[in-house]
Amino acid sequence: MPPPPWTSTPDTTRSRWKELFATAPHGCVDVAGACPVCGEAQLHRHYQLGRSLARVVDGEYYISEGRVWEWCSACRTYEHGTALVPLWWNYYLHLDIEPNQLTATPDALEEAVQRRRARFHEPRQVPVVEMRSFDGTTEEVVARFVLTITGQVVTIARTEHIRQVADKRVARVPGARDTWLTRDDGLAFLEELPPNLRGSRIFATKVFEMDETAAMTLPTQ
Ligand SMILES: [Zn+2]
Repeated sequence: MPPPPWTSTPDTTRSRWKELFATAPHGCVDVAGACPVCGEAQLHRHYQLGRSLARVVDGEYYISEGRVWEWCSACRTYEHGTALVPLWWNYYLHLDIEPNQLTATPDALEEAVQRRRARFHEPRQVPVVEMRSFDGTTEEVVARFVLTITGQVVTIARTEHIRQVADKRVARVPGARDTWLTRDDGLAFLEELPPNLRGSRIFATKVFEMDETAAMTLPTQ
């Protein structure tokens, strides 16, 4: 059975809908708040960037003319129109969608929300490098550098002190052609850790993959 058609906000709830999106805290695609039409606890929005501009309206910074979609996955109510794109939109993770997939109704956007939901529940493997110590008899994990789904390299260690020491040790590592790599370089940074950290007592493993949940925890002693 095909999903029910998208319908625009009924007149009776339009002002509540507008108010809800206008006052929702910054936070990208997902908007907390009961759908004025069906009561669903979460709504969604997506901005498409257009011509760049810089404007301040009521203390809010805008970076582009563009388009906005606001929708409810449950009752398939939606709004679509031109809009100024706020600065904060740039700072959050967006839906995995190509501009040419966008149509007036949020079909492709809703599919992207569903794909993201499915991905979220799948166990994921993430690339990691472990900093290990060896005292002649035992090998131990000192810290773990994990490349997360957002492209950030995070450091997991038993204590905050160890984390800071480990971070300092690999603050930057030499890369190819006289460049320096930092954790912002993601996988390239991880790959340069083993050749740059290979003492007899402290060394870095090669990049390997781990279950994300396991990777993000290091047992405390
Ligand atoms: Zn709804």
